Amino acid sequence: MQLLCCAAVAGLGLHMTAGLFHHADSTTRTAVTAFEVAATARSAAEAALARFTEIKVVVKPGDTLDAIFRGLEFSLQDLASIRALESARPVLDKLRPGDELTLATRDGELMGLQRPISISQTLKVERGEDSGFMASVEEVPLISHVRTTSGSIDSSLWVAGVTAGLRHRTTDALTDIFKWDIDFFSVQSGDSFKVVYEQLEREGEIVDDGDILAAEFISGGKTFRAVRYEMADGKFGYYSPEGVSLRKAFLKTPVQFSRISSKFNPKRRHPVLNTIRAHKGVDYAAPTGTQVFAAGAGRVQFRGVKGGYGNVVEIAHPGNVVTRYGHLSRFAKGLSVGDRVQQGDHIGNVGSTGLATGPHLHFEFIEGGRHVDPQKAIAKGAPAPPIPASERAAFNAQIAPLLARLESAPVATGTALVAR
Ligand SMILES: [Zn+2]
Repeated sequence: MQLLCCAAVAGLGLHMTAGLFHHADSTTRTAVTAFEVAATARSAAEAALARFTEIKVVVKPGDTLDAIFRGLEFSLQDLASIRALESARPVLDKLRPGDELTLATRDGELMGLQRPISISQTLKVERGEDSGFMASVEEVPLISHVRTTSGSIDSSLWVAGVTAGLRHRTTDALTDIFKWDIDFFSVQSGDSFKVVYEQLEREGEIVDDGDILAAEFISGGKTFRAVRYEMADGKFGYYSPEGVSLRKAFLKTPVQFSRISSKFNPKRRHPVLNTIRAHKGVDYAAPTGTQVFAAGAGRVQFRGVKGGYGNVVEIAHPGNVVTRYGHLSRFAKGLSVGDRVQQGDHIGNVGSTGLATGPHLHFEFIEGGRHVDPQKAIAKGAPAPPIPASERAAFNAQIAPLLARLESAPVATGTALVAR
């Protein structure tokens, strides 16, 4: 636990504490009110507020609300009444390191506390007149702006993303959209992208990026385009302008930040055994500990040690397909035989158990009992369903302005160009 400030300076304390104590009918509160209350109450309330203290606590690893209350010598009875509030308990029982709590006291007694829940929501707990506590969630509306940016890759996609003004999370989302078609480990200098996305503004300040609405990625001279579309049932996905889902049955690469070190080859000389022995899979070289993902949705049919594979996971998928992940250093926590996994779920980590010269993932794709080249099988794997005919008109109408934005965005050369 770390105390950020413990001040009751008249001016500052006035408007901050007023925010915690102003009384409103629990449904309509805005952050602006706090300021207004402060301004009007200034002369009358100033003297009284000198007794108020506001304490900001930054949650440290292992901290609980209980530990924080004990550390500050607050009443544990108050803690119990706050935890008894249905809407407050789930928010306060899940503290994460780095979270900020603001506690307001009067003459050493806890009067209220606040915790941001998201960029637009804050939980407020206040002591009521009958000395019980009340909880409410204050919502500050976010304004969404659509922004278009572009970038070209010089040293890395991450650098190009930053230059283009994208938050890391949004660059991540960009790779997520195209991960079935583009191997992002092999993007080259000269590859480029355009992104149409939302920026979120709160009280006049850009506080976060929202969703990517449309994107274009040119990799090795090939152009890939995607638009975000939400179906009538609320499910959303990324589609090509022709309405084909970008999501495929299997991931192009089942391991993060890797490179292919050995391809599928029925006549390879085995590096450890030094004999001609078919290489029935693809090897992805990556440092020990790198996360390995389920290539597609399915059920875990094996998790354990198997000869030369070392620690291995096998997943059974629909269509009589099995994927196998060998030489793992460890398995994902809690993973057991019979578990259902979704595409992209963490199943284990790269290692060199079994017959392996160095850390890598040995990945096999077995269709109807026969080993096939995973790269080929994944490339022709069936995509998720396309836009249904019933939504085609809505889809076309919604994507037209997004495609126009992509078209008109300047093509980045070296440094990113930005258009609003
Ligand atoms: Zn291998």
